[in-house]
Amino acid sequence: MFVSSNLSVGKNGHLVFAGVDTVSLAEEYGTPLYVMDEAMIRTNMGQFRDSVEQYYHGGGLVCYASKAFSCKEIYRIAKSEQIGIDVVSIGELYTAMSVEFPAEKICYHGNNKTEEELNLAIEYGVGWIVADSFSELELLNRIAGEQRKNVKVLLRLTPGIEAHTHSFIQTGQIDSKFGFTIQFGTAMEAVKQALALPNLLLDGVHCHIGSQIFEIDPFVHAAEVILSFIAQVKDELGYELHTMNLGGGFGIRYVPADQPAAYRSYMEQVSKKVKEIVAEKGLTLPFIILEPGRSIVGAAGITLYRVGGIKEIPGVRKYVSVDGGMTDNPRYALYGSEYDFILANKAGEEKVDTVTVAGRCCESGDLLGKDVALQNAQIGDILASCATGAYNYSMASHYNRVRKPAVVMLRDEKARLIVRRETLNDLISCDL
Ligand SMILES: *Cc1c(COP(=O)(O)O)cnc(C)c1O
Repeated sequence: MFVSSNLSVGKNGHLVFAGVDTVSLAEEYGTPLYVMDEAMIRTNMGQFRDSVEQYYHGGGLVCYASKAFSCKEIYRIAKSEQIGIDVVSIGELYTAMSVEFPAEKICYHGNNKTEEELNLAIEYGVGWIVADSFSELELLNRIAGEQRKNVKVLLRLTPGIEAHTHSFIQTGQIDSKFGFTIQFGTAMEAVKQALALPNLLLDGVHCHIGSQIFEIDPFVHAAEVILSFIAQVKDELGYELHTMNLGGGFGIRYVPADQPAAYRSYMEQVSKKVKEIVAEKGLTLPFIILEPGRSIVGAAGITLYRVGGIKEIPGVRKYVSVDGGMTDNPRYALYGSEYDFILANKAGEEKVDTVTVAGRCCESGDLLGKDVALQNAQIGDILASCATGAYNYSMASHYNRVRKPAVVMLRDEKARLIVRRETLNDLISCDL
């Protein structure tokens, strides 16, 4: 009945998340509130990590794509699970550095990294910088030279694969702002340039075909395309690329109808294909990097709101307004993303109503869900939105000068604050 195994109903009829009464959490920490389940995060990280060991024998590293949820604590958890991370900005890098995240396990992405960002990344000694353009290769080479370092580089490729997902979160197709296109020979040119630049160590290639993908086939296909490219580079230039980064994009269950594939079967099928092609083309098994983001933290989070207003337009629609909205979860406004909602203090009751959940911003598009099933709502109820662990807190904004909510982490049925709620003073702290 719930979208995730860490949700249940307590004896008092309240929604229980990771063993903790969510109504009590709302009372203790206030609303809106992000709540995360540490056990599930660790299990997900561990499953990806172990599946690489179990099914693949060429060595690999799971790099949690931290744009999905970034704060000090998640980097501490990733560090203790001995996995790596992806960062895409100096802010994420700085946060990871603040908890001494091992530099050699960091992969740095982005289609327009600034000189300031590359300087810090190279200074800290990140494991890989994923180069996205010719001009960036030049810039990297210059900065590396200035710092008298060699920089390990992956080239971001666009493999020309269209995964079945929303166009804004699709990234592998030819018409993309990211990377070097394989089809027009651009990627081969990039390899030549990277090899010619003295301060760069060309370690491999990267692709990321999109997000919230349920099928395994597009991933297997991407691995095929990338390996064919590695073979082509070996044939034409006599240089064998060592690392193949296959990106992230594994889907999660937002609503009951979603059926994501088991994450282990991803590595199982990809490994099989990779071994096959490597044998056929006479290549060495590449080092594989995976970059799951959403699938690590998505189902491990919920958001709690308080219902503040109810408006019924007869024969049209019933609005249930909550004390958050697009400022803490812009995904409905951005992509029309669906979520499952539950009244936390009435979780044992039937969902007898159909409502539209509205946020509090001055924006008609500030909705969290349209025509969703819900228990009978009254002002003061606690509304839970499920599977909000990814791309919610990390996409939060200050629109309307709304303060960002706190984040609470649950472990062993105990809660601890990992990001405190913003104060009014935080809001004006940069204003001069
Ligand atoms: C966003 C992103 C990921 C993670 O995507 P998910 O869908 O959250 O798994 C991985 N790699 C790159 C390069 C990304 O941009």
